[in-house]
Amino acid sequence: MTATPEEALEQAALAGVHRLPIPTPFAVGKVNSYLIEGERTTLVDTGPNSGRSLDALSEQLVAHGHTLEDIDLILITHNHADHVGLTEIVVEHSGAEVAALGAAARRLADYEAESEREDAFAVELMLSSGIPEEIALALQSVSSNFRGWGGPVNVTRRLDDGDSVDLGDRSLEVLFRPGHSPMDTVYWDAERQLGFVGDHLLPHISSNPIIARPLDGSPGRTHSLVAYLESFGKTRELPEGAVLFPGHGEPIDDHRALIDSRFASTERRKEKLLRLLADGPRSGYELAQSMWGNVAVTQAFLTLSEVIGHMDLLEAEGRVREVDDGGVIRFEAVA
Ligand SMILES: [Zn+2]
Repeated sequence: MTATPEEALEQAALAGVHRLPIPTPFAVGKVNSYLIEGERTTLVDTGPNSGRSLDALSEQLVAHGHTLEDIDLILITHNHADHVGLTEIVVEHSGAEVAALGAAARRLADYEAESEREDAFAVELMLSSGIPEEIALALQSVSSNFRGWGGPVNVTRRLDDGDSVDLGDRSLEVLFRPGHSPMDTVYWDAERQLGFVGDHLLPHISSNPIIARPLDGSPGRTHSLVAYLESFGKTRELPEGAVLFPGHGEPIDDHRALIDSRFASTERRKEKLLRLLADGPRSGYELAQSMWGNVAVTQAFLTLSEVIGHMDLLEAEGRVREVDDGGVIRFEAVA
């Protein structure tokens, strides 16, 4: 079954699910919040923290016969500003319960300090990957300029993988699917075969396996792409014909084919990166430059995350090892 996106959205509306596209200042364009009507009026994600986004959210709620005050529950897919920035404002209007992965609650609540830590972590990772200091610092300042689009989120209902969230007339299963972020959470309505996937799976672009600090506060970094592929494998098992609602873009009704294409492109990119190591060890930055040239400063951390992710896969296969001379970390092909 392949429906057009319009048909999928019409079908969803019959099931009480409405997509609310919210403007963002980010390159990705609009972010999708979803309204789930029923005994408990629910929003999945809220949009970035801006007056324009708040207006867009309220207007679309009104168009569906609701107001901000009606919201009973907000479900969070992950901690990125474009998805959660408005959450506390919606709570101020509605007193809604906020449900998110419990393991991420502290990171969500302590927004300013956690953002500082994440930026410092990113700078350190960039420097140890050979990214010039001026680029790393420029990116850090871009990141702090964007910080106002996010905000603290106080989780009042801590979820765990496998939990179910009761909305009265429907129940959503909580599926932990890290990779794009350390906390990606999918909400699955088994009865209606509908899922809310955030940025875990996007139809038009592959979302980056962004390297982050582990959620549990342990030192080091996430092995984001390794986790991502594992998460994809699990999501692929959702039944054929399921409709998945992404954080950006149109509904997905062929998730298996889409996930298979992501697997295939990861495989191709991995082999290509390995070939770049034929002439000797190279840093993450050198590899990113060979793959994508000199990208915009704002993309530097994303391309680095891609490279490191693929190196992690190759390392796990025993085909690459890290050479750390105490300064810049380089990757070397294992003969
Ligand atoms: Zn995201």
